[in-house]
Amino acid sequence: AKGAGRGGVQVFDEAASRRALDRLELRSDLAHAVARDELVVHYQPLVDLLDGAVLGFEALVRWLHPVRGLVPPDQFIPVAEETGLIADIGTWVLDEACRQLAEWQAEHPGRALRMSVNVSAAQLHDPTAAARYLQGITAAGVQPRDVWLEVTEHSSVRSEVSVFAHEMHRSGVRFALDDFGTAYSNLGDLTRLPVEALKIDRLFVSRLTADRAERGLVQAVLAVARSLDLQVVAEGVETQEQREELLALGCRQAQGYLFSRPVPAEAAAELLRTGTGM
Ligand code: C2E
Ligand code: CA
Ligand code: CA
Ligand code: CA
Repeated sequence: AKGAGRGGVQVFDEAASRRALDRLELRSDLAHAVARDELVVHYQPLVDLLDGAVLGFEALVRWLHPVRGLVPPDQFIPVAEETGLIADIGTWVLDEACRQLAEWQAEHPGRALRMSVNVSAAQLHDPTAAARYLQGITAAGVQPRDVWLEVTEHSSVRSEVSVFAHEMHRSGVRFALDDFGTAYSNLGDLTRLPVEALKIDRLFVSRLTADRAERGLVQAVLAVARSLDLQVVAEGVETQEQREELLALGCRQAQGYLFSRPVPAEAAAELLRTGTGM
């Protein structure tokens, strides 16, 4: 067993250095990704839990690497944050998502469609970020109030986020606190930030029907949201049971595989026309 352990360590070391090399390679490739047109935005519908109607979308970036294929954001967003490339990538995603929103709003003039875009704390060190974002929104011709920026609790405690958030908020852009519940000790941020929605983390939704305590937590989040006059979006709804439980608790808005995975723009446009079928 001891020998196998040593062998295991050696294998682990090789794997670790391969990963480090991999990261270096990703780093240099990512520097060209925007210019080479390798990024794409997929869209996951935000739905009304009652009838599955599409209320809007969350823009989620993907990297179509020429050799590796589709690289998920969890693998390259941290690299982009480390290298500062997130500024370019974030601007690109926002511009693209706003252009897409304008197109869909023109096709569906009667509907109040919104677009959510994720923002990393690392993007906000840049004092010109707010101006750049507002420029993208204006250039696309969409209303700032239809654009939602999703920040995490982790990033929201940082003062520069707050400055950025207040500047954007003054212009009408709205904020949602992402992954809510993963660090609920920071509830105080809610009163300091111009947040208008909470997104309940997928972890809580996944345990909702199995665990009484989890149900209590979601109930508490909904109570906080109500008292602060915030909207609530449940993330990661995968089953009818979860949907029914959320509705019973008074939550109306959600995203999740039950309705649709994030899909390319053409498929999202189709969902807008036909509904999610749920
Ligand atoms: P997030 O903002 O919490 O996004 C939700 C993630 O959950 C997405 O993963 C989505 O595909 C996944 N998801 C949605 N519904 C379900 C479900 O029912 N079940 C399960 N198992 N998963 C579901 P994705 O697209 O891989 O994105 C991962 C994270 O990468 C995002 O988490 C976000 O933090 C980050 N990200 C994505 N796009 C961007 C971007 O443009 N900018 C920045 N800064 N971060 C981004
Ligand atoms: Ca998000
Ligand atoms: Ca989330
Ligand atoms: Ca997240």
